[in-house]
Amino acid sequence: MAPISKETDLLVIGGGSGGLGAARMAAGKFGAKAMIVEAMRLGGTCVNVGCVPKKITFNAAAIAEAIHDAKAYGFSLQETKPFDFRSFKLKRDAYIKRLNGIYERNLANDKVEYVHGWAKLLSRNEVEITLDDGSKTTVRANKILIAVGGEPTKPTDTIPGAEHGTNSDGFFDIDTLPKKVALVGAGYIAVEFAGMFNALGTETHLFIRHKTFLRTFDPMIQEGVTAEYERLGVHVHKESTQSRVDKDPATGKLTLHYKDGNGEGKLEDVDHLIWAIGRTPMTKNIGLEEAGVKLDEKGYIVTDGFQNTSVDNIYALGDVSGRVELTPVAIAAGRRLAERLYGGAQFSAAHISYENIPSVVFAHPEVGSIGLTEPQAVEKYGAENLKVYKTSFPAMYYAMMAPEEKGPTKYKVVCAGPEEKVVGLHIMGQGSGEMLQGFGVAIKMGATKKDFDSCIAIHPTSAEELVTLK
Ligand SMILES: Cc1cc2nc3c(=O)[nH]c(=O)nc-3n(C[C@H](O)[C@H](O)[C@H](O)COP(=O)(O)OP(=O)(O)OC[C@H]3O[C@@H](n4cnc5c(N)ncnc54)[C@H](O)[C@@H]3O)c2cc1C
Repeated sequence: MAPISKETDLLVIGGGSGGLGAARMAAGKFGAKAMIVEAMRLGGTCVNVGCVPKKITFNAAAIAEAIHDAKAYGFSLQETKPFDFRSFKLKRDAYIKRLNGIYERNLANDKVEYVHGWAKLLSRNEVEITLDDGSKTTVRANKILIAVGGEPTKPTDTIPGAEHGTNSDGFFDIDTLPKKVALVGAGYIAVEFAGMFNALGTETHLFIRHKTFLRTFDPMIQEGVTAEYERLGVHVHKESTQSRVDKDPATGKLTLHYKDGNGEGKLEDVDHLIWAIGRTPMTKNIGLEEAGVKLDEKGYIVTDGFQNTSVDNIYALGDVSGRVELTPVAIAAGRRLAERLYGGAQFSAAHISYENIPSVVFAHPEVGSIGLTEPQAVEKYGAENLKVYKTSFPAMYYAMMAPEEKGPTKYKVVCAGPEEKVVGLHIMGQGSGEMLQGFGVAIKMGATKKDFDSCIAIHPTSAEELVTLK
């Protein structure tokens, strides 16, 4: 291994989406001397235990659904689908490993110095790196970017046996298709995992605190997807709390003791319990307080619109800044910061806008959302200044299926003011993930309902309903 530089222009802590975006642009495009320090695997959460392996698993689940649906179209396929989960998992792991290698080569191509180790701030210009062999080295940097991301939130100590469960990282270690799983959480990670397990044939129990999940989404999505999960056979335990987890030492199976809207209960023979109850920023023990970097009450690094922290020349972005915790947001914030710091006068005001960021949940069905939910729009503009267009229909994909087999498609477009500017768009149904990107561009450009209507429909698609709303 080449000796590690003692000085650099930009030192990035964290080789995930945001850190890589910043370091590669700083060095590759603007020629800055950049170093990136990663403690685990290059690519961070998204590549290793997030978006990428999740989407591959979602694809497997979607294929299982298609096999089920094929019968309605006249295919005589076996309903019991032999699915070699172990081979699938190994192949998925190999794909991720390949990506790790590609990321490392990309860093080399862009002349970013890559150090594998644990980084800690010593001062506003010094970072101590603990290398894999335990030795320590100190690097001086003109500018430091903290892009350390987050980790799954641990369940409270008040639930005895909670440690028998795993989390979203552990989801990707599962190498045998479980017979029965319990998931706790109402955010997109819990909902996505539950949908995948259910589609793959696992008995799936989802424990949520309220009556619906995806509670930051528009009520149409919350209610629509919760109802659809129940129709698809997910056991949704509403208004639930968990009191104890027992593990059978002989079989390794778990019993989850809980209370839900129906009273007290216990779920036995659980192969995996997955806590998906949020994410916590990785801001502990990395010298932030010592360097004077301000954190909020939840431990996120406080940043302004330009990713500046409370300390000059120390920046933070991505999940650790507690804004919109999505990969493209972290990448874009990293690139804009590199442009601003190293791109000269033309980029001196570069920064990202955190408004109107499209997001998708790979649920069953998929969900897409951008802008304000209806309640948020009412609060911002007043109900009298809004016009909300809605539609609900069975997509043509279900034309060959019995009524009870048809999945829902629901769209909502929230428009504000006399010009009916589109301030929120919420869609659930097949293909919503791919559909949202284009509508996102239109909404970012300030599209009105009239603009939507002026675009000729593409027939027969589900998306055409969005340009023909009455
Ligand atoms: C299950 C799951 C599914 C997801 N699905 C999606 C999705 O479909 N679409 C989407 O857009 N987003 C998704 N996300 C979110 C996305 O992964 C994150 O928003 C994104 O990875 C954030 O990037 P980041 O650079 O801020 O942090 P990360 O990608 O988490 O990278 C931080 C890196 O810093 C390293 N690090 C931490 N501390 C140190 C230290 N002291 N020294 C050195 N290195 C350190 C970590 O090892 C890590 O590699 C998902 C997340 C999860 C958990």
